[in-house]
Amino acid sequence: MSQQLNTQAELVVRGWRGGQWLLAVSLVLALGLAAGRAFGGQVPTWVLLWALSGLLGTISVGVAWPQTGVFARPVLGFRTSAPLLALTFDDGPHPVNTPQILDLLDRYGHRATFFVIGAKAEQQQDLLAEIVRRGHELGNHSWHHRPWTPALPAAVLLQELQSASHLLKSVAGHVPRWFRPPMGLVSPPVALAAERAGLDLVTWTATARDGVASAQSHSGFARLLRSLRPGSILALHDGVPGRSGRPHAVLAILPQLLSKMQERGLRSVTLSELIPSQQR
Ligand SMILES: [Zn+2]
Repeated sequence: MSQQLNTQAELVVRGWRGGQWLLAVSLVLALGLAAGRAFGGQVPTWVLLWALSGLLGTISVGVAWPQTGVFARPVLGFRTSAPLLALTFDDGPHPVNTPQILDLLDRYGHRATFFVIGAKAEQQQDLLAEIVRRGHELGNHSWHHRPWTPALPAAVLLQELQSASHLLKSVAGHVPRWFRPPMGLVSPPVALAAERAGLDLVTWTATARDGVASAQSHSGFARLLRSLRPGSILALHDGVPGRSGRPHAVLAILPQLLSKMQERGLRSVTLSELIPSQQR
């Protein structure tokens, strides 16, 4: 449901513009019917339940599928005819996976964006510096990567984002531009905290869903392959959110993906190279 715009100033593909209207309509409908019934109106129970489930459904869809634009309009891609796309890696850095990924990217001359978890990055600042030294971009992926991030108060998340941005600045020399919310889930506090932290929300055009130990490399590769075109933002995982654990699928997916990209003449650049800041 992404929206594709066609003027020079609107090449960024963001979530659907109508999502917030959908939320407003379902909210007004549910509240109106509930108020009507509370004040003695003849509103059948099934109608009220229908309106309330519509509202809950809109909220759930908005949190889980940011491309619907219900709570925010994250960046999903970029319209370009140049043979460029953006590979991104979440939940690292990982002491085993990240160096292997860096070597693979170097071999093909690609640059990527690493959405690191602050608490993990703080423990591996040498690796963080190595990512930057090799020409890649660092993105903010929160400090703790809590599964319930969409339910956090904006002030709590803002503190997390600022701590992570501060760490990334100390290594990269500048504050990060991008925030990818944990698991790509958005809510009003997530959107507000990102805005107050001066970060641009980004999710992805396609994700390999390879961030768990049980992930299958063939299905992850197939998901990415469907969006392997100029301007795509492809998400993979070099780490997992917890202290231990190691995603394996990425090391099987990436060589296949890079070889397919070479076949199609596609090159990965950092998100900020793909999407110049004046295009925000
Ligand atoms: Zn993540």
